[in-house]
Amino acid sequence: MLPTCPRRTVSLSVAGSPKVGVLALQGDVREHATLLAALGAEVILVRRPEDLAAVNGLVIPGGESSVIDKLSRTFGMQHPIRQAIDSGMPMLGTCAGLILLADTVLDAAPGQQTFGGLDVTVRRNAFGRQAESFEADLSISELGEEPLQVAFIRGPVIESVGSRARVLAALGDGRVVAVEQDNILATSFHPETTGEKRLHERFLERAETWRHTN
Ligand code: GLN
Repeated sequence: MLPTCPRRTVSLSVAGSPKVGVLALQGDVREHATLLAALGAEVILVRRPEDLAAVNGLVIPGGESSVIDKLSRTFGMQHPIRQAIDSGMPMLGTCAGLILLADTVLDAAPGQQTFGGLDVTVRRNAFGRQAESFEADLSISELGEEPLQVAFIRGPVIESVGSRARVLAALGDGRVVAVEQDNILATSFHPETTGEKRLHERFLERAETWRHTN
């Protein structure tokens, strides 16, 4: 199982670095926070609206999307996150995070809602169970020649991509596994568990730009 969120703030403050958040309601919060801190960001674990108001970008981690959805409503976070997405704040969603950003979810849990904003339809658990997890090398030309080494852990497949989003990466069989739309980057896989840094770097560049324009 994926670890649940740590209770303490993982924070490394570097002058001039963007302050970014990791939504810390459930899921692999620590892996993202550690990677972002290693890249020089100041990282806030976001649980309340005032945490979100203090950051220049938000990572929505992998975990269990239906649980993160429920907790976000319980903690009064759904509306502020939707507002942040609409306002153009940079977002990076991985796995459950992708599901939470998607406009449409197939095979959702009963009553499951998303923050939305990303013009895609995803199917939950499309890669099978935890035991069927696998690693893959993916090429994303804009992120460099070296393929990205990433992990698929009960991830969603992006079944259709609307006109506002664009495909960043697909598997050899054509299944779409990474997309981008304006401020939003989202992946079916986990880059953070294998230490792949380039998507987080792209996210941080955007957070830095956002910081200077807002
Ligand atoms: N299957 C999970 C969900 O539906 C996602 C799995 C993950 O984030 N690794 O939320």
